[in-house]
Amino acid sequence: MSKRSLLMIPGPIEVSPTVLEAFQGPPPSHVAPDFIEKFGRALEMMREVWCASADSQPFVIAGSGTIAMEMAVGNLLEPGQRALVVNTGYFSDRMAEMLRRRGVQLTEVGAEPGSVPSIAGIEQALDARQVDAIFATHVDTSTGVRVDAQAIAALARERGVLSVFDGVCATAGEAFEMGEWGADVYLTASQKAVGVPPGLALMVASPRALGAREALSEPPPMSVDWQQWLPIMNAYEQRQGSYFSTPATNLVEALHTSLSEILVYERGGQHGTQQGISARVAAHTAAADAMRAAWSRMGLEIFPQSPELAANTLSAVMYPEGVGPELLADINKRGVIVAGGLYPGRKQTYFRVGHMGHVVTEPELLLQTVRAVAEALVENGHDTDVGEAVSAAAERL
Ligand code: PMP
Repeated sequence: MSKRSLLMIPGPIEVSPTVLEAFQGPPPSHVAPDFIEKFGRALEMMREVWCASADSQPFVIAGSGTIAMEMAVGNLLEPGQRALVVNTGYFSDRMAEMLRRRGVQLTEVGAEPGSVPSIAGIEQALDARQVDAIFATHVDTSTGVRVDAQAIAALARERGVLSVFDGVCATAGEAFEMGEWGADVYLTASQKAVGVPPGLALMVASPRALGAREALSEPPPMSVDWQQWLPIMNAYEQRQGSYFSTPATNLVEALHTSLSEILVYERGGQHGTQQGISARVAAHTAAADAMRAAWSRMGLEIFPQSPELAANTLSAVMYPEGVGPELLADINKRGVIVAGGLYPGRKQTYFRVGHMGHVVTEPELLLQTVRAVAEALVENGHDTDVGEAVSAAAERL
């Protein structure tokens, strides 16, 4: 078998060798004692990785990030209720469309591509029209911008409304203190910074969010209904097998392994040694800084309008003059796969490089990526010094 290229797109991503091992092998039964233990423990570890309170509720179901979004929308709101969407790109548009399909009345607050709406702008929209919930995309994978989730959650608390964050391209790679910040739902999928192959929809819900489901008179579709899933999650946490709909057993075992790996991860830094999720987020921050230093040394601009808005988990990088999407194949030829643009109308103007999960703990994989991009740029006639670009990243890792 030929060695496969390094997968540096914004999900799915490279998983660690231990996660790969946990995922392989014959499918376990959903009621095998060993599986029950791992599922129960994975649910407990989700609270730690999400920095969520002890009374919050994790959910793990077979599915994608889109299913997780559907679960949040359907359990929190019903037709006729109102929501505000902080719109930062492609995946916020998707959230808005889902809410519309649920019959929810929408207010959208947008921003220039590559930017985020101001908190004052969101406040004004809330002054103009009361809502029941605020939805935001923590990191929008189409533009690489990150919203200020803490400020949005605080605003929601102040107004007594729910806050929901799509963390598909953020969870376990960006700081998010669910309990401390008072957020109500933080959802994601397994294939990004959580570090597992695709196939699991994951989220943690606050007691307020569970209360919103209880108050609904129009329940969501059965397959995503928290009231169907709650007894199942409770049973596994109490180390009892249970059944509503078959869990993706191999993936749940991989999730158990990946969350364990995240929580034992240690990293030395300016403020001593960090461990667990804060260390893992710090590793993502360092990786993002290193990648941005390399882009800058290559003379490349990023899509986010300022470096403070740029996510830890991916880079959205503008093609330099005279270079276009043909660059991707030349990077690929060098054993690294990156992704094209995604923002509607701008797809041909930039490319995206994922730097999340296991790879942020392996500097040589990040440097391999920088080298491949720099060499491909040179091949395409862009004047850059490959060695300097690699050093600019290496200095920060
Ligand atoms: N939200 C965000 C921010 C995403 O990046 C993605 C996937 N790229 C999704 C939602 C949808 O996830 P999935 O493709 O697993 O349905």
